[in-house]
Amino acid sequence: MSTKSKFFRLSNPIIQSFSFEKFLQKLPFRDLILVYHLASDEEVKHVKHLFPYRSVKQFENDLDFLSQYFDFLDWETFIKEKTEKVSRKKPTILLTFDDGYCEFYDIIAPILKRKGIFAVQFINPKFIDNQDLMWRNKVSLLVKELVDHKRSKDKMLKYKPAELQKNILSVSFQNQNQLDEVAQLLEIDFNDYLKKNPIYLTTEQVRQLKNDGFGISSHGWDHPFYNQLSLADQLKNTQKSLNFMKENQFLNDSFAFPFTDHLVTNEFFDSIFNQNPDLKFTFGAAGLKLDNYARNLQRIPMEIGNYSAKELLKNEILYYQILQKFKKNKIIRS
Ligand SMILES: [Zn+2]
Repeated sequence: MSTKSKFFRLSNPIIQSFSFEKFLQKLPFRDLILVYHLASDEEVKHVKHLFPYRSVKQFENDLDFLSQYFDFLDWETFIKEKTEKVSRKKPTILLTFDDGYCEFYDIIAPILKRKGIFAVQFINPKFIDNQDLMWRNKVSLLVKELVDHKRSKDKMLKYKPAELQKNILSVSFQNQNQLDEVAQLLEIDFNDYLKKNPIYLTTEQVRQLKNDGFGISSHGWDHPFYNQLSLADQLKNTQKSLNFMKENQFLNDSFAFPFTDHLVTNEFFDSIFNQNPDLKFTFGAAGLKLDNYARNLQRIPMEIGNYSAKELLKNEILYYQILQKFKKNKIIRS
């Protein structure tokens, strides 16, 4: 568990007795960017062991709460207000979603359309049309299988399930073929799973979402862990996905790091912005935080420990105050 998650667990009971207005006065920035993946009332096996996602009701509650205190921005307004000085009564939110799960089309987009809220969906071109399963989704499926069939499979394996589970969760992007080996051992057919349950958006759905006014942007070609790649591979992976966006007339002025931009260097940012004159902003997911690379904006991850949007924002604001006291509120890159 990260330091921040531990902090939230301790602070969450304490923040309950203070009003949101009190926290809002301490909001360090007037323009927040939030990131979700999906909302569903079903058991989403390929995600369940990666992060806690919202039920549809919880997600709607989040939006209703946020609407009271913030203005939701569309992409053009967001870009405009980032570059020009605009005074607003309420602070703003840019809503973003990562990974291109089909729940965005089936569940989330209809809710957002009904409420008149814009969002950007950051996708990995490799997985559009369900051509392959993203490696972390494989991890979740394998862990789910181990949890469900602990006893029956136990004898077949030379590892203990708990030990195997830990190993599966720590498989790196480069070693992802190990996941296919474990799948064989557990008799799981990833292609069959994907065929029976298409889990990502299709080309047709992505086009439809674009026509409905949503932003479609880049999340890397195949969702690598950037700090496990060489600089050359980081640039290659990003460029490939930006080219896809340009060719398909989606947004090629933005890019959101898969997982995290932790340890990504200034050299990466200099190169990618130089190579792509259209690129305006890149996005991390470190929560309320400044970044020494001013065009890399940090988003607030909304799927932590099942806290509501209200609780998460209160915790984030409090956490920022503490980071600021220790001068740790800015990411400094080498
Ligand atoms: Zn992602």
